[in-house]
Amino acid sequence: MVYTQFINGEVTKGSKGNSWVNYNPANNAPLGEIYQATDDEIDAAVNSSEKAFQIWKTKTGAERGRVLINAANILRSKLQQIALLETQDVGKPIAESLAVDISSAADALEYFGGMAAGIHGEFFDLKNAFGYTRREPLGICAGIGAWNYPIQIAAWKAAPALACGNSMIFKPSELTPVTALELAKAFMEAGAPAGLFNVVQGDGKVGARLVDHPRIAKVSLTGSVATGKKIFAGAASQLKQVTLELGGKSPLIIFDDADLQNAVSAAMLANFYTQGEVCSNGTRVFVQRKIFDSFLKQLKERTEKIRIGDPTDPDTQMGAVISKAHLEKIIRFIDSGKSSGARLLTGGIKPEKDFKGKDISSGNFLSPAIFTDCNDSMEICKEEIFGPVLSILSFDSEEEVIDRANDTPFGLSAGVFTNDIKRGHRVIHQLQAGTCWINNYNITPIELPFGGYKQSGQGRENSLAAIQHYTQLKSVYVELGNVESPY
Ligand code: NAD
Repeated sequence: MVYTQFINGEVTKGSKGNSWVNYNPANNAPLGEIYQATDDEIDAAVNSSEKAFQIWKTKTGAERGRVLINAANILRSKLQQIALLETQDVGKPIAESLAVDISSAADALEYFGGMAAGIHGEFFDLKNAFGYTRREPLGICAGIGAWNYPIQIAAWKAAPALACGNSMIFKPSELTPVTALELAKAFMEAGAPAGLFNVVQGDGKVGARLVDHPRIAKVSLTGSVATGKKIFAGAASQLKQVTLELGGKSPLIIFDDADLQNAVSAAMLANFYTQGEVCSNGTRVFVQRKIFDSFLKQLKERTEKIRIGDPTDPDTQMGAVISKAHLEKIIRFIDSGKSSGARLLTGGIKPEKDFKGKDISSGNFLSPAIFTDCNDSMEICKEEIFGPVLSILSFDSEEEVIDRANDTPFGLSAGVFTNDIKRGHRVIHQLQAGTCWINNYNITPIELPFGGYKQSGQGRENSLAAIQHYTQLKSVYVELGNVESPY
């Protein structure tokens, strides 16, 4: 299998200039070869996106919306097939790809498809005149994705961009080239003009070419803070608009009046879903002293029952991390935790057999790790690990935990567990994070804006808020009288 570009409605033959092997994280067997987009291919993608934009921007919102909703239905009709592709490419359990990844992509297309006809400006009564505003598209937008939720990220960017009348060139992560191509095919089948959604493969160099390209109006990245800073700086030279969805080290705060069972469930969801490779994860779990021991006991017992194994097995609950290099990076963090004095309560080892006794030693598996005896200054409590590593910290008072939770350059997410309704809101209102939960964690309905404070991002995805990031506002003044001139 060769993964090439999708330009002007077709998968290209590609040229094997710069290429690399794409591996299945569950066994490190090759899945195929990725051909990086050449400069000529990037220019061809821009030309084709420009042509599509000229057609697309003249369509009514309802016409655009219909195409998006068709694409959502196509993804849903291919749920099993695309979920399997995603699982083989990313290493996440098929149960997750089926329940979340593909459906969340379809939800975004349906939501923004439904909204497209309602995108409108405003009217202003003025003295002997009136004014109105129009929400106009920006032009060609570039989307650049991370590897943890490939099709969801592509759809979260494409859906609002296309609903607003833009075209998009999407570059998936160099580690997950597969399902963006499925989304591109779905748009074509749904009736989109050729070139409306093009895909170019490649690493950061191709991403940087898109950022620098003078005919690309906007860049939306999902990735690390380090890449976000480079893209922000690159876009600044042309004052391009950016949306940045970046990393985090988010706090999950459990007060002693919380429902213990639910709080433990949320802490596990906040750390072990998709092998812990989720940007919004609540990796600093602050537990109030009175319930600390009972929380830890239940968390350990339930974590040790997580079924690690073949991601394509429907009973598997935890799959393989994306690459050997990433596995080594996570293990380095675990070693750092141990050497800094934290106690590894469970996990953090590479299992040889899965929960059914099958040999999984060739894959990038790691048992879910829980650290206790942690303090805020340890590397494992400060840096984003992006793997199944949870650090527990105890606290006494509300004021103390708010200060400690906010003591980070990140600000993507935060969660609070309490049965005191006033405290729940009071604490959440003081946390410096863009995406928050009370009595749950990591739930991201399309209706709610998603994004970060501080170094975790710029702009918002999902919800009505995304519309303002994919349109520009034109004000029009209309005279009803004579021109009053001093000349
Ligand atoms: P990454 O920053 O290494 O790469 C992200 C994308 O940027 C890739 O497609 C990569 O090729 C591209 N890229 C790299 N350098 C570039 C450059 N100079 N110019 C343009 N593009 C460039 O991140 P990753 O390892 O793929 O993903 C993990 C990170 O993504 C984590 O930090 C995670 O928190 C974050 N993430 C954030 C969200 C969110 O919504 N906030 C969601 C998922 C992942």
